[in-house]
Amino acid sequence: IALVGPQEQDFDTLARCADIAMYRAKRRGNSYAFYVPGEAGEVTSRFALEGELRKALADGTIEVYYQPRINLETGRYDSVEALARWHHPEQGAISPGIFVAIAEESGQVGALGRHVMEVACRDLVAWRKRGIAVRMAVNLSVFELQDPDIVLRIARTLQHHRVDGSWLEIEVTESAAMSDPEANVATLEQLKALGIDLAIDDFGTGYSSLSYLKRLPADFLKIDRSFVDGVTQDDGRSIDADIVRAIIALAQSLELQVIAEGIEEAGQEQFLRRHGCQLAQGFYYCKPQPEAAMLAILEAQLEAGSAG
Ligand code: C2E
Ligand code: CA
Ligand code: CA
Repeated sequence: IALVGPQEQDFDTLARCADIAMYRAKRRGNSYAFYVPGEAGEVTSRFALEGELRKALADGTIEVYYQPRINLETGRYDSVEALARWHHPEQGAISPGIFVAIAEESGQVGALGRHVMEVACRDLVAWRKRGIAVRMAVNLSVFELQDPDIVLRIARTLQHHRVDGSWLEIEVTESAAMSDPEANVATLEQLKALGIDLAIDDFGTGYSSLSYLKRLPADFLKIDRSFVDGVTQDDGRSIDADIVRAIIALAQSLELQVIAEGIEEAGQEQFLRRHGCQLAQGFYYCKPQPEAAMLAILEAQLEAGSAG
């Protein structure tokens, strides 16, 4: 909602003010918001970013970084997550939390998702040719999940790059998966039919319907970083530790594997290992890396493996 004031006399300005209020409302979820005078600077920069993102996507300058997950049983990296990176020419690195939201609000998230999927498949095939048998996880926004062409598009990309579906994992947040249960189960089952694994991301942060979770063709639950944050070594008792234990137990009874994200210290790993978590990802092991650095890490692991 934007109100006409002394500075908002023309339609375009008023519409832009309404837009920024809408952004704020969207961030809060199902809500409404009034434009606050003075937000105009933010409007302008947000609109500029929208245009610049469009250009960066067209130029192919959005990069894809990779963060590995360690298999806690073997101690080896067996998969990586693709994470989009935007290095703005003047503003430097812009957080994906910001530009993914801008992409979603400005109808560009399909283009962003296609770009990330392209690059991830290309890099994955190059690694496989070097004998590196890791799997690749790609994030899918709720808007992509609702795109009626999504399955066909992903199938074509796999075919184009000769990527086997079983090499790929799709991460969908819990709230996205729960957004339109009937339609999403159908879409996710079609992706599963391509051999793709499904991970429920940010698990524990949304409103979970356990009966719906049971119907989802999921393979992995990803425990959100916010819970892992609250777990420390001697911490048998905190609420976060209780939640993490409960999620692992839930996953076990639904026969899903558990990935914990955001591990930053040894104590967290010990806790997770002790409670039966299979996979872990976090700065403690490795920060997201550009392709060349990730390849070097995976090659070193391959050599160490064949030597011993
Ligand atoms: P996410 O899917 O939950 O990704 C995990 C985020 O946690 C990443 O942030 C990663 O860098 C960060 N992280 C990993 N380990 C640690 C740790 O030990 N400590 C801390 N503090 N952080 C850690 P990033 O790359 O900033 O991405 C933020 C979010 O943006 C992602 O959250 C995801 O929702 C979204 N995103 C990123 N790339 C894409 C993409 O290509 N497509 C879509 N749809 N969303 C993306
Ligand atoms: Ca993710
Ligand atoms: Ca997360």
